[in-house]
Amino acid sequence: MPHTVESHLAPLELIERLSLHYPDVPIEAIFKEDLLRRGMGWSPQALEVAAGYKRKAYFIFSFDMVPISGMDHGENLKAPEEIRLTGGVFNFKPVIVSVRLNPDSPYRVESEDGDLILKLDGNAVARVELQRSPAYYERKISNGKPIMDIAPTIEWGYLLYLTVFRLCQYFGAQEECRYCDINENFRQQKKSGRPYTPVKSVAEILEALEIIADTDSESKAYTVTGGSVTSKLEEMSEVDFYAQYPEAIEKRFPGRWISKVVVQALKKDEAQKLRDVGVQIYHPNFEVWDERLFEILCAGKARYIGREEWLRRIVDAASVFGPERVIPNFVAGVEMFKPAGFATVEEAIASTQEGLEFFMSHGITPRFTTWCVEPLSALGKEPQSVPLEYHVRLLRIYRDTMAKYSLAAPPGYGTPGLGNAVFSVSSFMDVLPASPSC
Ligand code: SF4
Repeated sequence: MPHTVESHLAPLELIERLSLHYPDVPIEAIFKEDLLRRGMGWSPQALEVAAGYKRKAYFIFSFDMVPISGMDHGENLKAPEEIRLTGGVFNFKPVIVSVRLNPDSPYRVESEDGDLILKLDGNAVARVELQRSPAYYERKISNGKPIMDIAPTIEWGYLLYLTVFRLCQYFGAQEECRYCDINENFRQQKKSGRPYTPVKSVAEILEALEIIADTDSESKAYTVTGGSVTSKLEEMSEVDFYAQYPEAIEKRFPGRWISKVVVQALKKDEAQKLRDVGVQIYHPNFEVWDERLFEILCAGKARYIGREEWLRRIVDAASVFGPERVIPNFVAGVEMFKPAGFATVEEAIASTQEGLEFFMSHGITPRFTTWCVEPLSALGKEPQSVPLEYHVRLLRIYRDTMAKYSLAAPPGYGTPGLGNAVFSVSSFMDVLPASPSC
């Protein structure tokens, strides 16, 4: 099903065609990928309903397709973090989708007699469920900062997302990753008046977790992350800065949550330092496999560390954490960016498949975040669109390459399988076979 055909189809027709062509991919996952690449609008009435539930916390990037200045109905303050789609004309099993705001999307959530419905070009698709706001979301720590700023949850409450450094020292056009809006998002959030702590202290994190540990039973894991540190932050190197958080958390709450850290690819002794303080899962994100595109898209990482060294360090980390606990992220679809990315789905899939083969043959299981074209990122300055067929085929090669190497679903993501998965920014967990939770 070539892309030229895809661009002439109405959105619903495209999904139905892809579903017929790839019957081994659940239609729920096809809709989810389409929602992630197109975003969704909300009617003002639906927004008012959503405002009573768990709201979008802007846990690291904007993950929106319009800037806050382009939101006319207070979407940034009222929209939920995630929605769960069920039932409807396709009889959906529950599927959880991250909310990426885009008032111009053909997808729209509307309120009908108090119920929320997802529509595509006006056609009802599925019922929309929202997650209740945890009690601690309304609370503040002693210095007045909201817990929603210090320790928000995503993945339907499974993951505490601790962005302890909301900026990145890769700065400006020559260094920032071209799909990333971390620094610009920080500026727009501050301008909008949202409490948005640039560097969270260990004490702030512990105080928030104290309240969460007392009142919450849904969170099962935490991620410590933030922008890259290329020189020093608070007089510390990247590994020393980030290691202090899991070290303190594991001392105070030993084993209470699965511990995960997302940082750059570290030297082996630095990775060992993370392991020694109690980190169980390490995410040295790789983002894009192709060598030429890595240099263009991740210029700072390419210059400071280099792709070959980055790869070596990921493989080295497998002997520190165990290969199944080294989980590099790929930004799914970014290898088709305009104007310099792959022009065809075939080429893009072949390239990323090569990357999956490389990692999985070492027992390492990558994961995806479906690319969100954020307008404040460098790539968001011009129109971008990744064919939906790319995303469907990516899910298939992921699932099939995992099976080829007899790999289990990555730990720290909850239970895999359609109807179980909580990971909301890609469907990779929705398409894996169901197996016990980890
Ligand atoms: S390293 Fe790249 S992707 Fe990560 S925060 Fe910095 S600019 Fe963004």
